Amino acid sequence: MIVAEAKSLERIKDMLKGQKKVLVAGCNTCMAVCFAGGEKEAAVLATSLRMAFKFEGVDIEVSEKTVERQCENEFIEALRDEAADFDAILSLACGAGVNALADIFADIVVYPGVDTKFIGVTESAGVWASRCSACGECILDQTAGICPINRCAKSLLHGPCGGSQGGFCEVSKDIPCVWQLIVDRMKRLNLMEKLGGVRPPKDWSAGTNPSRVTKEEKG
Ligand code: SF4
Ligand code: SF4
Repeated sequence: MIVAEAKSLERIKDMLKGQKKVLVAGCNTCMAVCFAGGEKEAAVLATSLRMAFKFEGVDIEVSEKTVERQCENEFIEALRDEAADFDAILSLACGAGVNALADIFADIVVYPGVDTKFIGVTESAGVWASRCSACGECILDQTAGICPINRCAKSLLHGPCGGSQGGFCEVSKDIPCVWQLIVDRMKRLNLMEKLGGVRPPKDWSAGTNPSRVTKEEKG
């Protein structure tokens, strides 16, 4: 999932300065899971904005609507009728959703209401951690399913650096050295021979931007 954090109310109010009609657009997939911009967060934010603007005597109309996913056109269509009535959309989707709205609604200003952080997993209730940097050419087959590109502070590909101490990373005693995790798992799975030898350098060009993937028809 994509993980994001809500921007502060002050930052959002600042972005919306000068607008008269704003639609807060929630996104009910990843953003709902990380409590950054699903239906509930969109309703709470719209109410907070209405109260804050009223208190400050600012004349601005704020409505809200949540769609299933803002990164797919068929779901964005559900916003089309409402969007036409607004000067601006405050998107609570990840950056992909904000871009998608900007592509489709050429005459409406689109603002980001959250800060997109990473592709990650839920570690425990209310705690998310990054796991993938979308490098374009996955090498998890060589690292026992644990990503050194994303989880090593230096994205080292052939083993730990000299800062690895007692299983922890030199950047923080709270962060496991990912190469310790990789080696431990490879030992458990009897895969240590895969770590030997010199592997070719990773093809970093596979993850360059802008990128596009086209699904080829099979058969
Ligand atoms: S190797 Fe690349 S694609 Fe695979 S998990 Fe790591 S960053 Fe993501
Ligand atoms: S200690 Fe481990 S995780 Fe930290 S930078 Fe070095 S190799 Fe990477």
